[in-house]
Amino acid sequence: MPKEIIVKSILNKTKKRDAWFLDDYTVNLYSSCSFNCLYCYIRGSKYGTNLAASLSVKTNAIELLDKQLGNRSKKGQYGIIVLSSATDPYLQIEKDYELTRQALQVILKHRFPVHVITKSALIKRDLDLLKEIDKVAILPKDLKTSLGRGCIITFSFSTLDDDVASIFEPGATRPSDRLDAMKVAIDQGFLTGVSMMPMLPFISDTTEHLNLLFSTFKECGASYVMPATITLFGNGKADSKTLVLNAIQKHFPHLEQRYTKYFSNSHELPAYYRDAFYKKMKELSEVYGISDRII
Ligand code: SF4
Repeated sequence: MPKEIIVKSILNKTKKRDAWFLDDYTVNLYSSCSFNCLYCYIRGSKYGTNLAASLSVKTNAIELLDKQLGNRSKKGQYGIIVLSSATDPYLQIEKDYELTRQALQVILKHRFPVHVITKSALIKRDLDLLKEIDKVAILPKDLKTSLGRGCIITFSFSTLDDDVASIFEPGATRPSDRLDAMKVAIDQGFLTGVSMMPMLPFISDTTEHLNLLFSTFKECGASYVMPATITLFGNGKADSKTLVLNAIQKHFPHLEQRYTKYFSNSHELPAYYRDAFYKKMKELSEVYGISDRII
């Protein structure tokens, strides 16, 4: 059973809206994340090596969200709420707790726009509510014309290979099932795209796999693909760098030397590698006719 906790605040106002994710607010209904991705940026000693074991449910989240959104709406402070920035809104326990579903009901009541980012197919359950939000949400003035609707759905992928994903994202929905959920969202007319973050060096950022990713997303009808290289932090046993390097040593021993060379003294790939990656992404974005931004 996950731990149940009481929190003081649930609606976080961001300092500045991110150009990729368009977040004016973020809401995390769970603390930690049972999808347990090895590369996850929330990793560190706070949550331990298995993020699933430190999962907590914020039991007063809905009541608080109702109050905080009520206050913001009275002041006309409408903005996009990102669900979620430090967990996934559709973890396995969401089936029982339904916190995300309840949060969407509250968001709909107060008419805030949402951007849902997930690695799960469970989002299909809530497309009814998201459709309502899409229609009735009040957008911040500067997004009224450029965005013009109240719901964005982003599916996150670091690979399309189910076996590779089972190593690096052991708790998440398989990419093949994620793709099916994405097709459902697109067929229902949602503004839907992909966060290709992070790409796994020499595994999912090969020319062959990148073409597979772009052609698959294009075929599904994704409106945008937002790619990024990996960042890995820390040398402690619960840190992302340690966990990813251990996985490389175990499952991809032929890549160990290259990963060690790049990451032993840095949290990111060398500048020349990143430059070449983003140049390639720009080319692929043009070749496949998919935007690299939501708007
Ligand atoms: S789904 Fe996102 S928040 Fe959860 S472990 Fe993976 S990267 Fe971290």
